[in-house]
Amino acid sequence: MQKTLTSIVFKGETQEGYHARISLGIVMAGEHVLICVAWPYANGPLHLGHVAGCYLPPDIQARFERACGNRVLMVSGSDEHGTPITVTAEQKGINPQQVVDEYHAINSKALIDLGCSWEPNIDPRGVEFGGSLFNRTSDPMHKQIVQDNFTSLMEAGLFERKTMQQYYESNSDGSGRFLPDRYVEGICPSCNEDGARGDQCDSCGATYESTELRNPVSKMNPEAKIEIKDTDHFFYRLDLFQKSLEKHASERQSVWKANVRAMTKQWLDMGLRSRAVTRDLSWGIPLPLEGNEWKGKCVYVWFEAVQGYYSCAKIWALRHAQDAGHPGGQDAWKDWWCVSKEGASPRHLYFLGKDNIPFHTVIWPALILGLNHASKGKKDSDSIEMPTSGELALEANVPAMEYLMLSGGQFSKSRKHAVWLPSFLERYNADYLRYYLSINMPENHDTDFNWPDFVEKINSELIAAYGNFVHRVLTLGARLPSGNNGPLTDIEDVQLTAPHRIKLEEIHASITDSLSRHRYKEALRYVMSAAQYGNQILQAATPWKYLKSDDDSDEKKLSLSTLAFGWRLSRFLAITSQPFLPFSAAKLWKALGQTGDISLVSWNDAINWEIGMTWNDETPIPLFERLDLEAILESEKSLADGDTAKKDEESVHVVKGGKKSKKEMNEMSEAPEGITYLDFETFMQVDLRVGKIMNVENHPNADRLYVVKLDDGSEEERTICAGLKQYYKPEEMVGKTVVFVANLKPRPLRGVTSEGMMLAADDGKDGVRLVTIDGDIATGSQVR
Ligand SMILES: [Zn+2]
Repeated sequence: MQKTLTSIVFKGETQEGYHARISLGIVMAGEHVLICVAWPYANGPLHLGHVAGCYLPPDIQARFERACGNRVLMVSGSDEHGTPITVTAEQKGINPQQVVDEYHAINSKALIDLGCSWEPNIDPRGVEFGGSLFNRTSDPMHKQIVQDNFTSLMEAGLFERKTMQQYYESNSDGSGRFLPDRYVEGICPSCNEDGARGDQCDSCGATYESTELRNPVSKMNPEAKIEIKDTDHFFYRLDLFQKSLEKHASERQSVWKANVRAMTKQWLDMGLRSRAVTRDLSWGIPLPLEGNEWKGKCVYVWFEAVQGYYSCAKIWALRHAQDAGHPGGQDAWKDWWCVSKEGASPRHLYFLGKDNIPFHTVIWPALILGLNHASKGKKDSDSIEMPTSGELALEANVPAMEYLMLSGGQFSKSRKHAVWLPSFLERYNADYLRYYLSINMPENHDTDFNWPDFVEKINSELIAAYGNFVHRVLTLGARLPSGNNGPLTDIEDVQLTAPHRIKLEEIHASITDSLSRHRYKEALRYVMSAAQYGNQILQAATPWKYLKSDDDSDEKKLSLSTLAFGWRLSRFLAITSQPFLPFSAAKLWKALGQTGDISLVSWNDAINWEIGMTWNDETPIPLFERLDLEAILESEKSLADGDTAKKDEESVHVVKGGKKSKKEMNEMSEAPEGITYLDFETFMQVDLRVGKIMNVENHPNADRLYVVKLDDGSEEERTICAGLKQYYKPEEMVGKTVVFVANLKPRPLRGVTSEGMMLAADDGKDGVRLVTIDGDIATGSQVR
């Protein structure tokens, strides 16, 4: 029986209603969702910390929303202005444009290589379903839009003009320039350390007014004369928006995560003050103002980069949607930005790291409200109103992430303490990274990246559960006679598999609910639980025993029917893992004999049990390859050594693996001396099983070893090399029921590959005895 799922569009639905509906498995189709991805700064390559915090979660969300039938527009791009870029350019002796051109190219390629859906620009289902654009803030159209917004906010009286004091360097020839804080160095007024920056000291962490810095010099031009001069700037009147933003924050209480609520409250509680929107710098968007006094000043980078979410949607409409025939033409962006005639808001989701929260819950909403205010011709004395029909909408949620740490230390571009995304993707499968970062996502607290954990999670979770399950189904299926409809169609008995369908429908509802609440880690765990369920039912059904048998027993029917259901479960896995593992899901899709692009398959089709069981006649190839920790550590070490040799002055810390995080260290230090505690999860990863010794022979090339053949409950015997020659004669061992480690990595021992290890007790002198089982139990049984 097929569960019927209804697709309904609910206009103006509350968040609570939305979650209630989602948990009932009713997926809404056709909603406009704007996915706003934090703009990476084009001053260096992206590192894994950025990916886990800002770039992977929105892609998972976008893929999920599309599968649910929603209309998704995803926007972001390179943030290309500001002083860190000019500092890099001056240090390298090139111009800032060269810096941003280089990193825009590197970062946009790395994001696409990671499988983030920045291509194509138009949704393959049609332009009305949206698309994506990864733009850049040096785009002339972005500049134009920012200047237009600057003018309208200014005309509405939402700016105030103030005089500030700023360092100025003058050369002997009479030329000179104002110096941004990063361009000034001196002695810290707090700790007396030399090399403190204009407004903050890296050594003691103090922040201060730049006028308090002692012995200030220009970083780039230490010979220049340096003095403090008055300079005029415009400030945005954030204070006018205090009440509206408090109202907005209280409406979002039940939706925002705890960290978002807390940081926003902190800002609002302090009371909002006006914030500078212009500065003395030439690398940026020029002010749309006449007069010599504004020469050499530009729009402050914070003020323009955040408008990229808006400009990018407009540029997408003009350059892509219009040509693709969107009925709204160059106004297509309004479907994703403006409150509809009926009063429904498009759903705006902003993805960013926790350091950026107030920008997206306070500052950007204040600008949006200001733009709406100005568009109605209102002035600073008029009261600020919440968005109504035709106006720009505010965010629906800001699912900000905590930090991903690198073996305990925070990722940071400036400290060169990172694993870079582009070089990671040259060496490893993108889906391995997507899996690891998703299952380890820093959703509610900081998490840690280290190589041993990475290898462990890929080998013992992704491959052992997911990869092995689908490969077993496909290889077992390939051994059955292939009829006209593939080998599985005729052996499926829908009555016998009914409980499995119910189980998967429950898991499907859980995944859907978790994703709609931005709980990516939890959602992926549910996906993996389906793979584990598959392994369990297949192990219990032992279909390999019936592949060639002619009997017509009920056992055989049940067993092979379970194998056939394995195909359905694999298809379920392909669809539900697609947001997380797009490359592997596409491979699996093809291996199952399914056609078309899996990213266009409807989310609910994962539990459509009426689909015909297609088959691919090619020999099944495993989806994944196991990782070898030793080899990885070796190659990472040589890379790190190479880096260190190249730029030893920069103190490069590339992860060498094996280091413990602070938390792990604390936990370990609580163990009594001489004992190393194992956490429970680690222990549970050891797969102990029951086997029966069938045959024992001398190892051909090793005097002390036996080659033992074990019935491990599967269709084939398992080979184990055991150092038991001193303690047992072969005939004493044969027939014993023993305990063995089933998931030990196979290793070659002088020409014979050993696939596990038998447990034995060792008294440390001459006594070694095998661990055996009390009474009768099936081979392959789990030991817990
Ligand atoms: Zn200091």
